[in-house]
Amino acid sequence: MPGIDYQAVRLKVSMQQVLELLGFVPTTTRGQQAYGVCSVRGCCKRRRGPFSVNLAKHNYRCLQCGSQGNQLDLWTAATKQQLFQAAVDLCHQKNIEVPGSVASHHERFADRNQSRRGNPYFLRVHVEPLK
Ligand SMILES: [Zn+2]
Repeated sequence: MPGIDYQAVRLKVSMQQVLELLGFVPTTTRGQQAYGVCSVRGCCKRRRGPFSVNLAKHNYRCLQCGSQGNQLDLWTAATKQQLFQAAVDLCHQKNIEVPGSVASHHERFADRNQSRRGNPYFLRVHVEPLK
């Protein structure tokens, strides 16, 4: 089973960055704690949602839909993808290499195929079929 180092993904992409990708605008902030409308699709549309996030601890919780976890869990829930696909997607969104055995394998593969380096979608094309 090919693996992604999910912990490394969480270290590379902060909760703040995930919220920015989701277009999250807090209605209230208290220190590192922010409140607003839940980013999970199908959840509440109210302006003052029961969604709270801690930017320092990189965790979130929604009292409406019950979704909670770290920034990767939030991205997974908000984009309705499998964890593996969501992690790959998130890395692409932030233009970083996917950490883990899959990425390192394709890095080595890419190195042996120097002629393909002109194609910026080379990694993307070869990672996606593995979902
Ligand atoms: Zn929610």
